[in-house]
Amino acid sequence: MKLEIDQFDAASKRFLLNQELQGAVMRGTENWNLKRTTAYGEIEDVEAMKQYAATVKEHTLDHLDYYLGLLADKIEERGGHVHFAQDAAQAREAVLTIARGRGSRRVVKSKSMLSEEIELNEALDTAGIRAVESDLGEYILQMEGEHPSHIVGPALHKPKVEVLKLFHRLHGTALDATVDQLTAKAREVIRDEYLSADMGISGVNFAVAETGSVVTVENEGNARLTTSVPRIHVAVMGMEKVIPRIADLGVFLKLLPRAATGQRSTSFVSVITGPKLPEEPEGPEEFHLVIVDNGRSGVLADPEMRTALRCIRCGACLNTCPVYQQVGGHSYGWVYSGPIGSVLNPALLGIEEAKILPFASSLCGACGEVCPVKIPLPQMLVTLRERAVSHGLMATGEAAGMSGFSALMSHPTLYRLANAAARFAPRKDGNLPRTALPILREWQTSRNFPAPAPKSFHDLWRTGLDREEAPKDDSTHGRPTGEREK
Ligand code: SF4
Repeated sequence: MKLEIDQFDAASKRFLLNQELQGAVMRGTENWNLKRTTAYGEIEDVEAMKQYAATVKEHTLDHLDYYLGLLADKIEERGGHVHFAQDAAQAREAVLTIARGRGSRRVVKSKSMLSEEIELNEALDTAGIRAVESDLGEYILQMEGEHPSHIVGPALHKPKVEVLKLFHRLHGTALDATVDQLTAKAREVIRDEYLSADMGISGVNFAVAETGSVVTVENEGNARLTTSVPRIHVAVMGMEKVIPRIADLGVFLKLLPRAATGQRSTSFVSVITGPKLPEEPEGPEEFHLVIVDNGRSGVLADPEMRTALRCIRCGACLNTCPVYQQVGGHSYGWVYSGPIGSVLNPALLGIEEAKILPFASSLCGACGEVCPVKIPLPQMLVTLRERAVSHGLMATGEAAGMSGFSALMSHPTLYRLANAAARFAPRKDGNLPRTALPILREWQTSRNFPAPAPKSFHDLWRTGLDREEAPKDDSTHGRPTGEREK
């Protein structure tokens, strides 16, 4: 994957010009923002709870080898199988080997961003294995041949009218069908998939090392069916999903739904510990967990990026981000979007691959505020910008402009000369015309550059403010006291 500036520009412009898509994303994210604020407000000391969750995650990352080893041991004690995959190719191969070895031809899947990351559906398809998504949003996207645009609401960008047309085309439902009618139809169609599939593939929200359990959190019940009806259950997870103790799970189960959709709790939480035991009435006969690195070791070893591995994929930073709301998830060019995508994509793939993303931010700080595990996203975006510039990847007019600005600010004589020259700058409606400084021309296509003031602050300071310009009250407004009286 390589997201070039023009690709980001083109994708975001397409989205900006489509009012239906924009409206769908704005409505969805604003709804979740309101609910999140209320749900966070119900916790007596939400900052303390976030800090606790961040500390648990940080501790786990400090001892990741130990906890992954413990998780694997506990799963194997319960008769499950664990596969470690260094990259996406190994992860795909692990799943395909299990499927081929058991003669599986039909798979049902529940939502998993990791499976998107490793392009599992494409691999299953190429191997002649039919895989059907069971999450309603994912099912809609699969039928449309699209990828998720949001880590919690994959089809958030889809206006209702497009879903109505899709269901009408595929399943013959009315073009004015209600949401309940569409859901009932989807349930009817997907139910057959559970019954005919011999393998279920799920993601993992948390994996508890001390018990060897994997946990899925969802609202539709499809993950529970995916993990319990087919004969074989394969769970795929990024290696950062492990937490040490079952006692810590409660904190994450309080924070995740509140941060994600403003719910106190999701409708279904499944804690799966190995395959079905002989005395148990239901569950899969075989359980496999595929633990995927795919660049995460590199992120872990990077002191400025490793906190990104605390992420519990709640999507709150996407919902609150003014850039995400404007350009939608597909503009980010890979699986993860919004502020966490702008950090995680370059961190996982290398800054060369996604150098534009850290610049897709207003640095307003909202993402860092809402994050339930206190990931300092704004600071990380600034760090990645520095890396992009220092690697010469953003050697554009902006980088040259910054170098010039730096020289100006560190040489007083140069600064004074520039100030004197600035007085003669052309101006139009109080701004610098686009023709004045060619280096700013591109930057000015969507912004105004205010023309320099007729008198610099230094001049005013030296000569003293005349009485008309001076503040009306007697306060010094922070100026060093006594200076003007001399
Ligand atoms: S970075 Fe924080 S807010 Fe964003 S998805 Fe991850 S946990 Fe949620």
